[in-house]
Amino acid sequence: MAAEQRNPFKIVQGQIRQAVEALGLEPSVYEIMKQPLRFLEVAVPVKMDDGSVRVFQGYRSQHNDAVGPCKGGVRFHPDVYADEVKALSVWMTIKCAVLGLPYGGGKGGVACNPKELSKGELERLSRSYIRAISQIVGPEKDIPAPDVYTNAQIMAWMTDEYSQISQKNQFGIVTGKPIIIGGSLGRNEATARGCVITIREAAKKLGIEIRGARTVVQGFGNAGSIAAKLMHDMGAKVIAVNDTKGGAYNPNGMDPDALMKHKAETSSVVNFPGSTPISNRDLLALECEVLIPAALENQLTSENAADVKAKIVGEAANGPTTPEADETLFKNGVFVIPDVLANAGGVTVSYFEWVQNLMNFYWTEEEVNSKLERMMISAFNAVYEMHKRKNVKMRDAAYLVAVERVANAMRVRGWLG
Ligand code: NAD
Repeated sequence: MAAEQRNPFKIVQGQIRQAVEALGLEPSVYEIMKQPLRFLEVAVPVKMDDGSVRVFQGYRSQHNDAVGPCKGGVRFHPDVYADEVKALSVWMTIKCAVLGLPYGGGKGGVACNPKELSKGELERLSRSYIRAISQIVGPEKDIPAPDVYTNAQIMAWMTDEYSQISQKNQFGIVTGKPIIIGGSLGRNEATARGCVITIREAAKKLGIEIRGARTVVQGFGNAGSIAAKLMHDMGAKVIAVNDTKGGAYNPNGMDPDALMKHKAETSSVVNFPGSTPISNRDLLALECEVLIPAALENQLTSENAADVKAKIVGEAANGPTTPEADETLFKNGVFVIPDVLANAGGVTVSYFEWVQNLMNFYWTEEEVNSKLERMMISAFNAVYEMHKRKNVKMRDAAYLVAVERVANAMRVRGWLG
């Protein structure tokens, strides 16, 4: 297990090195991409409700802006640390490049426990953080977004603070905003929608019928519950779901809307009428066509990957599969759609939000969804073709597609010598 809990920054550096070597690119591509081009550490002072001042540690990492401004979320979590933020910013470069978005990767974070802060303290923290990084972010430079424990309200405070500093409204400074100040329709469902589109495309390639496909969702939260609903809407059978409190299993299928209602009323999917309880371990090992890990990182490990019987794993979560588990799944013929492709619908609609902000012209939900559909299909096909051409895992193929695109941009810009 120890090897599976390595430093995420070291892991992603290894992934970039592998891709550069497999593509036969100039060594300078690795030298530039192995670290962020810019990394800022900031003190984030906050006046607390009791009159004292606490200073939190904040970060913003800008990995690579060869194809466009940096883009990536801000995490408020006690465990935020520099190497994690750096690694997450590299993964954002990969994710944006896989989708062909005109963005490089960015990521930010503040080491804090938002659950211990009052609403006023959280607002002052959000404003203090964006002030501290204001010189390096901006609609043409780096555009933050929500991530773990940050949300649309926090984005609204950051938008307001940055607009005050700039002395004009700057709705393009962050994405994931409330609709009334430039948020995009369809943003909430985008991650799950993108994931389900990639699962549908994979099923077509593998000759699996989505109608009736047994679907298992680990983590019935925002991404997981909407993914379950969209799979159900396509005719799939949602046979098991779970959350931190336990799981619900019904081989005849469950209605995701009713599950959402049950969860809203009881705070868990456990004891959903007609279901039997199921442990997390058993859920991951169920006979099914589709498994959607939508909880946290490191869920499929060397300890349970050999038990997975799904034909397709669609990674709605970030980093749910350890590299060791990935190898096992590949050997066992499980088709894994990697996170950098499967959950990129979120950043894609963030991109649409930013485009709408810059144009000051807003799209209908149908327009957003149809543009998302087009981009997800085209990204899926690019990765699938690379997977076939180089005979590598879909994850490795995604890195090859992404690194090649970023390298091409750096080369034409004259960065590679
Ligand atoms: P969320 O908090 O709404 O949902 C997570 C769910 O997982 C919760 O229901 C929680 O109870 C459950 N869970 C946590 N640990 C579990 C475990 N060990 N076993 C079973 N269930 C467990 O979060 P979310 O926004 O849906 O994000 C889920 C994942 O998707 C994360 O990895 C996130 O990084 C990724 N993601 C989300 C978005 C987005 O737009 N929401 C975008 C990209 C990636």
